[in-house]
Amino acid sequence: MSYTTEELRGDIVFIKDAMKIDGGSEFDKRLDAISEIIREKGKRDEGCEFVEDEEYWECSECGLMWSLNDGNPFDNEMRHCPKCGLIISAIRFTETDYTQDDMPKVERIIYPPKGATP
Ligand SMILES: [Zn+2]
Repeated sequence: MSYTTEELRGDIVFIKDAMKIDGGSEFDKRLDAISEIIREKGKRDEGCEFVEDEEYWECSECGLMWSLNDGNPFDNEMRHCPKCGLIISAIRFTETDYTQDDMPKVERIIYPPKGATP
């Protein structure tokens, strides 16, 4: 059985409410600490996205601006953000759609190549 981190954090809120846990008590602080660990795990599991911004790639979580000479982060075998260390779960950029007459910009999302080990 697998639960989302949001479900687990909701359970902690429920437990606090059901047990009428006093805000600021030692047990309340411990439950808050558990909730924070669960939140951090959720962030690690979810990872970050690298979004192209002109000549930089920006991490969605820590805001690192990373410049590459050529290609995208996956082309350059990047699997983690160099600053926050989260797994790069996707990259986003816009490109011109040359198949259309008015050549609109289209957003593209690329996920890590299969078999890539984070
Ligand atoms: Zn980052």
